[in-house]
Amino acid sequence: MTVDPASASLREVKDRLRGLLRDELVLAPADAEARAQLERARGPDGRVDLRSLDLRVLPWALEGLGKEQVRALAVFKHLWQRGVSDLSEVQTVSRSTMNALAARSRLGALAPAGRIDSDDGTTKFLWQLHDGHHIESVLIPDEDRPGSNPNRYTLCVSTQVGCAMACSFCLTGDLGLKRNLSAAEIALQPLLVQQQMPGGRRLTNIVMMGMGEPLHNFDNVVTALRIMLDEDGLNFSHRRVTVSTVGLVPRLRQLVDTLPVNIAVSLNATTEEQRRLVMPITRRYSMTELMDCCRTLPIQSTKRITFEYVMMAGFNDSMDDAARLAALMTDVPAKINLIPYNENPDRDIRRPSPETVRSFQAYLAERGFNVTVRATRGVDVSAACGQLGKAAQRMVERLPPLETEPS
Ligand code: SF4
Repeated sequence: MTVDPASASLREVKDRLRGLLRDELVLAPADAEARAQLERARGPDGRVDLRSLDLRVLPWALEGLGKEQVRALAVFKHLWQRGVSDLSEVQTVSRSTMNALAARSRLGALAPAGRIDSDDGTTKFLWQLHDGHHIESVLIPDEDRPGSNPNRYTLCVSTQVGCAMACSFCLTGDLGLKRNLSAAEIALQPLLVQQQMPGGRRLTNIVMMGMGEPLHNFDNVVTALRIMLDEDGLNFSHRRVTVSTVGLVPRLRQLVDTLPVNIAVSLNATTEEQRRLVMPITRRYSMTELMDCCRTLPIQSTKRITFEYVMMAGFNDSMDDAARLAALMTDVPAKINLIPYNENPDRDIRRPSPETVRSFQAYLAERGFNVTVRATRGVDVSAACGQLGKAAQRMVERLPPLETEPS
């Protein structure tokens, strides 16, 4: 991984703060990346959303107030570790400083709009955004199977309202792209779900596989990831955070150069023609280009790229497909996740039989591949893979209201 000089200096600042709290730290001039992040966080009224800034950039939002680095760290911890929703709750910084900061800033928010629990333990959370749009997150406890971890809770996070990628099997794609989520709207999903988990249970894993193509909202996703990974933020291990993509090749390489998160590639086909039929992005970045990129990504030797393969009966589930998939994976540090299609009334796509899925999996396993079949979760609440976002507006009307007040 490329070492980010900004992160290195941040580490230095934190070390100094922990040992030398009285030391005055001078704010260096904002670099281009920091200025760009500040501009993305700025609303039409000129106020900056503090929740859309990572800790390397937050000090510049306090510029001119003095001791910016020290105070930024205090604000960041209150926002992401204590989950405060009002700057007046930051008690370790003087009231006058917080008042001055409040006058020039705002805090991005997600209003809980409802939740619905599936019979299999999956929970779908619906959030309303400030402009009336809705997004969803799905909480998935580890499967009830031998070897499962009862303490593992994964949150599937959305990164856009709708999606521009138009994958033919996916209902979210029907919505088209409405808008990108801000960094705050992305990072708040795990924070707010965590606050609703009972009995000291904790979210352990994040997957960016909800509504949207994460790399199509690259800058905000990277800022949200920095907040999630920061030990003074949401403090997730990079080993437990996965970003899924249809294969925006230049952005994929840029992400791996920027952060050490896990990568999942939504593949779903074994020939260029077949993939073009279901994933229009293949016309922009061919499957050959995508696989060449995956072969040369500088990922850590302990990591593998997960290839998601939605199996559709009579389309990509033959043994010829299995053989081509094995060939595509040559020299790639790959893990293959087979996802039997979730049938729904909006698509004339059939789910392969269990025997077909088993044979496909066995073919790959016999050739030494790490291959799993994803258990279907949350179908009864339309939270399964490819079902997010469908008729979200109508869901608002039928979901039971949450007890929690909107933040
Ligand atoms: S599968 Fe993912 S990238 Fe494709 S349309 Fe659906 S949300 Fe977008």
